[in-house]
Amino acid sequence: MRHEKVVILGSGPAGLTAALYAARGGLDPLVLEGMQPGGQLTITTDVDNYPGFPEGVLGPELMERMRAQVERFGTRFEFDEVESCDLSVRPFQLTTGNGQKIAAETLIIATGASAKYLGLESETRLRGYGVSACATCDGFFFKGAEIVVVGGGDTAMEEATFLTKFAAKVYCIVRRDVLRASKAMQDRALANPKLEFIWNSEITEVLGEKSVEAVRIRNVVTGDEYVKPVTGMFLGIGHQPNTRAFLDWLDHDEAGYLVTTPGRTATNVPGVFACGDAQDHYYRQAVTAAGSGCQAAIEAERWLEDQKHGSASSH
Ligand code: NDP
Repeated sequence: MRHEKVVILGSGPAGLTAALYAARGGLDPLVLEGMQPGGQLTITTDVDNYPGFPEGVLGPELMERMRAQVERFGTRFEFDEVESCDLSVRPFQLTTGNGQKIAAETLIIATGASAKYLGLESETRLRGYGVSACATCDGFFFKGAEIVVVGGGDTAMEEATFLTKFAAKVYCIVRRDVLRASKAMQDRALANPKLEFIWNSEITEVLGEKSVEAVRIRNVVTGDEYVKPVTGMFLGIGHQPNTRAFLDWLDHDEAGYLVTTPGRTATNVPGVFACGDAQDHYYRQAVTAAGSGCQAAIEAERWLEDQKHGSASSH
């Protein structure tokens, strides 16, 4: 079994910032990148709210830059992820998707979150055949098409606005009569002539044999249902944390977000730290994820020091 001092899980802003600090602190971290290296920013377009980029920056470019910065300090990256673990023993035992067994003195969980789906059987069946949660990945395939976007938050408005570059018409299916998105995003979406809002409505079925041909829409106020012909359906209804492998060991809330000491990244297991979207359902920003990644690395470093000197401090 391999022995590692610091294993960082995830390579979004949280994981990479943790790696930057851990590497510069001489801890020689190993980063298991996860199945989506770079995390959620790799499937976004413009990022206008990350400090230091006055003209904005593309999400994938921001992540490439972060990674290059981390690599400068000699971090090791592996395309792998933790499938199961035993956090009751020291060092912690990790089993990865590639079948590796790794013993880790300390663990930084920065596994982030993934897009949620509605949970309809027809939606699952047509995923990849017109159903998508990534406008930047799949928008190109909908040139001149009529499509729906589900959700009323920033993600949905960003997706819908982006999709109007390709689609002839984008219907936004919003379950209430108001949007949750920020004012700036709302204003931009509401002013876009290619966007049409269908309020107080939800999708109850995706129709089509081999690919999306229509969706069944229900008005939640009147109960009326009707079928709207579209060839694509994009989800923008939020995210769920990628924490399944840790839920048996770590305190978490109902949705699966890991619980940390307030203002810190320490979990209930001393030596295990959590940062970024895996433990944050409130801010979910690249900059706050990066900040918490920095905290996790500093806390891990101090924890390792305490262990070396036999300090009673557990966090
Ligand atoms: P949000 O939780 O903010 O919004 C989710 C939206 O989906 C809401 O309109 C919600 O409706 C709706 N929804 C949730 N579940 C369902 C369902 N089962 N069926 C139908 N509709 C549903 O998530 P986002 O991903 O939009 O945003 C998350 C965070 O990321 C926010 O802090 C946001 O500001 C940030 N963000 C920022 C961006 C930027 O600044 N460029 C871009 C994208 C995200 P309801 O309102 O009724 O709950």
